Amino acid sequence: MSPVVQPAARPAPVVGCAERPVLRERGQREVFCGLTGIVWLHRKIQDAFFLVVGSRTCAHLIQSAAGVMIFAEPRFATAVMEERDLAGLADANEELDRIVARLVERRPDIKMLFLVGSCPSEVIKLDLSRAAARLSQRHAPGLRILNYSGSGIETTFTQGEDKCLASLVPELPAVTAEPQLLVVGALADVVEDQFARLFATMGIDDVRFLPPRQSRDLPPVGPGTRYLLAQPFLGDTARALDERGAVHLPAPFPLGAEGTTKWLKAAADAFGVDPMRFRSATAAAEARAQQALAAYRDRLEGRRIFFFPDSQLEIPLARMLSRELGMRLTEIGTPYLHRTHLAEELALLPEDVVLSEGQDVDRQLDRARAERPDITVCGLGLANPLEAEGLTTKWSIELLFTPIQGYEQAGDLAALFARPFDRQTRLRV
Ligand code: SF4
Repeated sequence: MSPVVQPAARPAPVVGCAERPVLRERGQREVFCGLTGIVWLHRKIQDAFFLVVGSRTCAHLIQSAAGVMIFAEPRFATAVMEERDLAGLADANEELDRIVARLVERRPDIKMLFLVGSCPSEVIKLDLSRAAARLSQRHAPGLRILNYSGSGIETTFTQGEDKCLASLVPELPAVTAEPQLLVVGALADVVEDQFARLFATMGIDDVRFLPPRQSRDLPPVGPGTRYLLAQPFLGDTARALDERGAVHLPAPFPLGAEGTTKWLKAAADAFGVDPMRFRSATAAAEARAQQALAAYRDRLEGRRIFFFPDSQLEIPLARMLSRELGMRLTEIGTPYLHRTHLAEELALLPEDVVLSEGQDVDRQLDRARAERPDITVCGLGLANPLEAEGLTTKWSIELLFTPIQGYEQAGDLAALFARPFDRQTRLRV
């Protein structure tokens, strides 16, 4: 028997996000911390190592999120702080220096080391930026050492990537006013290659990506740099790039056929690409994406979807699912709503959708139960209880681990949302 749940009273909406009312939630959070980003970042920057300065809990999180690699030498680890460190009885800096020295000796292939802060390192106020500066001097020039925080006190899981990329920005070489396109946000290599080919076909040859695949290939930045965000959760990185003189190109995010076209068009317009040339560069791939999406439309059209705040991908996903697959949006929750970076997305959403920013997990659970959507996008911790109540769920973290951006991945993205319904049908049969 399902428990009877009274719908939670909605807090009064606040107007101000492109004139749309937004519910502000400031309650209990249930999301992974920024350490999770290491799972995809260590695959992306192939000569980097991520050393979490944390507790056994942090080590368990990383190991279970990334899986235990048996055949490959992993490029992440946790320097576990013991009780003696936490109680201030041992010099954590000395221990860190020893661990880094041992790592450098064992792994000469590592060219960039990130010291990643955690809740425990923040609680004892271990200054990792000073440690990174000190260790950089000791291990230069072969190894560059940077630091950022992945602590759950400060970050939700996608913000780990933001903090990591923001820490890279001061390291980027300066460039004069040469026009150059920078794509910002970790993308699967296959997606990156597809975008590079599309830009080249349009005549935009000088395209660089942040993060790079190798730490020695840091892209230059300067007043001539025009940058596209490939991910919606990069507020700190964008701010740091702006301070270096780079200029953001406002666009929806490259999810689905429409989003990808509008994202590419923003760059094409900034670089003066002739509209005919743009069409001929993108038309075939766009048509392929539309065809791939059409194959899922009958399974998804009219289905009601509810987003818990988790990855910050929620608004671009909701836009794509409603406009290109006919899904009906109930509530879109996002941990943080960056009004400037999401302005183009918000303008494409239906008028009646409920937007919420921040988390208050009990109230949001009550609203989801009251709505009884056909599918709920949420974090791993909420999925099982909701499934047990008969609600179909989709783990939002899957959307970070799967290549979903660009034309060629549009069908795969739709498939991720169709699969839970297929499973449900099979279970019923
Ligand atoms: Fe937990 Fe904090 Fe470590 Fe993340 S950083 S695993 S939230 S203790």
